[in-house]
Amino acid sequence: MTAVPFSLPYLGMEEQQALAKALEQPVVHGNGPTGRRVQQRLSEWLDVEHVLLTSSCTHALEMAMLVLGIGPEDEVIMPSFNFVSSANAVVLRGGQPVFADIRPETMNLDPKDVVRKITPRTRAIVPVHYAGIACEMDALMELAADHDLAVVEDAAQGVGSTYRGQPLGTIGHIGCFSFHGSKNITCGEGGAFLTDDETLARRAEIIREKGTNRASFMRGQVDKYSWHSPGSSFVLSDLLAAVLETQLTKRKEIQAGRRKVWEAYTRALEPLARASKIKLPAIPEDCQHNHHIFFFHVPTPELRPHVLDALSEAGIEATFHYVPLHTSPFGRTLHPSDDDLPNTEHYSHTLIRLPIYPQLAEDIEAISRRVAEVVDKTVHLAIAA
Ligand SMILES: *Cc1c(COP(=O)(O)O)cnc(C)c1O
Repeated sequence: MTAVPFSLPYLGMEEQQALAKALEQPVVHGNGPTGRRVQQRLSEWLDVEHVLLTSSCTHALEMAMLVLGIGPEDEVIMPSFNFVSSANAVVLRGGQPVFADIRPETMNLDPKDVVRKITPRTRAIVPVHYAGIACEMDALMELAADHDLAVVEDAAQGVGSTYRGQPLGTIGHIGCFSFHGSKNITCGEGGAFLTDDETLARRAEIIREKGTNRASFMRGQVDKYSWHSPGSSFVLSDLLAAVLETQLTKRKEIQAGRRKVWEAYTRALEPLARASKIKLPAIPEDCQHNHHIFFFHVPTPELRPHVLDALSEAGIEATFHYVPLHTSPFGRTLHPSDDDLPNTEHYSHTLIRLPIYPQLAEDIEAISRRVAEVVDKTVHLAIAA
């Protein structure tokens, strides 16, 4: 029985060759010829006007809050069932993250709770497309328009997914991508800032280049560049852009492999879902997703450690997902009350993620059978006890 690690990047000879070639180029810093080529390619693929490669999605989110001028007194609504980056981006500007609840079928923001959290201080909403499955963007965009709010999509997990045919990251005013080693398409660490808005894009390119207009200088629009606004260094090195370029070439192969794994798990676990032993996610009709995460829910929080242990003993490295931000040591200092996010609190404690990456595709029938047997037995024993 071979052990199945939780996550593996899909990197090979092609990336090695691309990196070796990139090391021989005269430009290895950021926003060089390779980076600009990758930006152009992403822009065409996703049909979005401006793509700025960044050193991470965390940095793209920080850029978003800088570009929007978020500051003290400002509130930004986001899920508590979330990674830390969007909350940090707001806190670093002195703003207040406001946590809204999720819908259990998708673990995504519940627009009904977002409405309840809007105050005169609200400036933006950050929908997080969990597992690469889109949030209810029509409802959220309508809310944003009604209340004059910006929408910053945290599409870290949603590269290649769509909502009603439109790529995630291109629906809100700003979209943020991640190319971290754990994501579908990776260059180790990396990200992108996406927007169709010319004004936001111009501000963003200055912020990304230490507050200078170096990007205009590089385009030959000005004869020298200097300091124009607060900023930082958020550019992706051309060395990593070369790896990213190769990954984009392998995109379909990566997607096909992940899809095969996702579908095999679903087939193997469906009988358990029908018997109410577990709950599988419901993919809304509007959402075409990139199979970034395979998750399911066990019936009770108490059961989860037993199922994770049993899977681990069977050589399958499964794991949980997120400690809700409002219950985290730092989040507790920000959140006024800790009892108003019932779905977040319950379902973050019953969620299990299984390993998913293209390298598993070949053995996935045997692996998914093993998973189903272990889960079935553990849940059954617990219910009987
Ligand atoms: C991975 C991830 C991030 C952070 O991405 P980095 O590129 O590692 O900074 C942010 N938000 C979500 C939802 C993520 O999954």
